[in-house]
Amino acid sequence: MEPPLNQLLSRIRACRICVEQPAGKPLPHEPRPVVVASRRARILIAGQAPGTRVHASGIPFDDRSGDRLRDWLQVDRPTFYNPDCFAIAPMGFCFPGLDAKGGDLPPRKECAPAWRSELMRLMPQIALVLVIGQYAQAWHLGDARSATLTETVRDWRRLFDSGAEPRVLPLPHPSWRNTGWLKKNPWFERDLLPVLREEIQRHLIAE
Ligand code: SF4
Repeated sequence: MEPPLNQLLSRIRACRICVEQPAGKPLPHEPRPVVVASRRARILIAGQAPGTRVHASGIPFDDRSGDRLRDWLQVDRPTFYNPDCFAIAPMGFCFPGLDAKGGDLPPRKECAPAWRSELMRLMPQIALVLVIGQYAQAWHLGDARSATLTETVRDWRRLFDSGAEPRVLPLPHPSWRNTGWLKKNPWFERDLLPVLREEIQRHLIAE
């Protein structure tokens, strides 16, 4: 019999909730869930939702945001895309479409309630969750997060040392649109990134 995680992945890949039972407007295109689940990876990247490029390629973080994220983590593409090293599960698995100004819509709100708890239950070996953006903060941190995304990231030490399992590190989105945020918050690169890189190496070696 197929392992439960593979069964779940098959169900996710066949999912049409946002087309057939949408909570609001239906998804304006065919679903293409982009998720990397793993029974061995100790690190989960909890992002937002695929953008247009990732929707076309089906490869998560196959864009400039991914380049910046890999730089933050100090890992190359083969390591990043090795499912024994990283699981990758955005808050909405499918590209949600664009708003009137051409920006990405928020992750589909149907997705996390449908799949996320079961996905996490079937990856009990995950030891570190990199929480990227406000939607992942809301799900993975709940009431432990601070009032704003920036305050939550700034409060990373308290969250990281809270005793929660898996451990969580909140990150800003690695989008190039956040270059101004990084300039305004130099503590992120100075204080958080060295700890992040150390943790990544620790979990990759432990793998
Ligand atoms: S976003 Fe999630 S819930 Fe919606 S169709 Fe894709 S996999 Fe299903």
